[in-house]
Order: sequence, then structure tokens, then C-alpha cells
Amino acid sequence: CGIVGYAGNVATACGKPLEVCLQGLGRLEYRGYDSAGVALSAPGMEKVAVRKKAGRLANLVEDIKRKPMPLATVGIGHTRWATNGEPSDVNAHPHTSRDGKVAIIHNGIIENASQLRLDLQAEGYRFSSSTDTEVAAKLLGKIVDAIIAEDGKPDLFKAVRRLARMLEGAFTILATDCRQPDIVVGARHDSPLVVGLGDGENFLGSDVAAFVAYTKRALEVDQDQAVCVSADKVTVTDFFGNVVDDPKTYTVDWD
Ligand code: GLU
Repeated sequence: CGIVGYAGNVATACGKPLEVCLQGLGRLEYRGYDSAGVALSAPGMEKVAVRKKAGRLANLVEDIKRKPMPLATVGIGHTRWATNGEPSDVNAHPHTSRDGKVAIIHNGIIENASQLRLDLQAEGYRFSSSTDTEVAAKLLGKIVDAIIAEDGKPDLFKAVRRLARMLEGAFTILATDCRQPDIVVGARHDSPLVVGLGDGENFLGSDVAAFVAYTKRALEVDQDQAVCVSADKVTVTDFFGNVVDDPKTYTVDWD
């Protein structure tokens, strides 16, 4: 339902990815939702740090206050409007790969999720939720593993593009991999995604409300495009890796 992302670096970030995600999710509350969650990555993490809760965003905030999350360089946040699987803590996003190193959030519905789930189950993958999104998370982890086998290192941008080509239905997804804690990667098909351009930091949102408190400069990600965002760089491609040279940028004219 609502999506927010943040990419900073060791110097600028620290508590900011979490702050931006929670702030942004608050700004997206008007859309309605049944659960909320965040994922954070930083250099040295063995797994992505994930926290998620059914119910009000305040439940998540309270939970994090009780048990603080680690400092980070990048983060993603989600408010869920359940389509596949009832509202619950386990069904809330983010969902993670089998090894816990990759996390994704998703807006929309993945139409071929049941078939993909069966294929993954046949290979021994186990699922803890009944969502379509967890299928995408497990598949993304599998794709990253395949890329490591091919290239000798993880490549989340390439992996998300490969994932996007396999998914049917509507989706905006954002992903983080703790082995690449300097980037957040997104992709969209029939569901919106906007980048907020900052200074030494960049933002992502399902709409500009997610980041308008931080920047008014925006970049529209178009249909069937993927984006890789770091603290100081935004790269847009199609799902096959062809770089989009001049993505449209504009200034948001409301407060
Ligand atoms: N289909 C996903 C789910 O049920 C995402 C729903 C949404 O857009 O929030 O978890």
C-alpha cells in the first residue's frame, strides 16, 4: 500500500534511514493500511534488520522504542493493505530471503505467486507467511545466489531486474541486501514509484508524500523500469538493464 525508501552513507545516515521510513509511513497513513514494517542494512550486518507489526504504525514505533534497531545506511518501509493472507505480524512486510540477507517490500498483487511458490517449494524452500510478497522475496534471494555463482559477487540491481521479468501482475517493489548496504533497488509495473533527490542522500516513495518533508525534487520511475539509488547516484534502467539517459525530474509544488 505505502512504500518509502532511503539511501545515505556512513557519514550522513546512522539513525536517519529509520527516521525517514517511519516519518514517510506516517505521511502515507492517509491511504489506509493494516500493518507496517521496516528493514535496515548497514556495513557489517550478517542479515538485514527487520521489524514488522500488524495494526497501527504506532505499534511498530512502540516496538522499536522498546527494543531499538541498529544504526544503518539504507532502509525501506511499508504499510500493508492485505490482498494475499490476513493482516498479521508474519504476513506484514518486509519479507526476507532464505538466508535473511535480502528483504523486500511490495505494493500490488503478484498473479503468478502460487505457481512460483510451488516451484520454490519443490526445491525445498519453506514459507512462513501466506503472502505473494514472500514468494518474491525467496525468489529474489535465489536469484542473488545465482548471480553470486555467475559473477562472484552479489548484484541486487541485476537481481531485481531479473525478478521483475518473472513476476506477473501489479507491483512496486523495493529491496535491500545487507551485502550491498549502500543501495536501495526498486522496480515497478502497473504501480507507482517516485525518487526524491537529496543532497548526499536520496529517497524513494510510492508517492511524493513519502519524502516531501525532506526534498521537493523528484524523479518519476516509468512503467517497467528499475532504479538503483545510493547516497549520491540514481540509475534508472528498463528490466533488461538498458540505461534510461534522461529520466524526467520535476519539483513538487506543495508543502
Ligand atoms: N499483495 C501484497 C500482500 O498482500 C501487498 C499488498 C499491498 O499492496 O500492501 O501482502
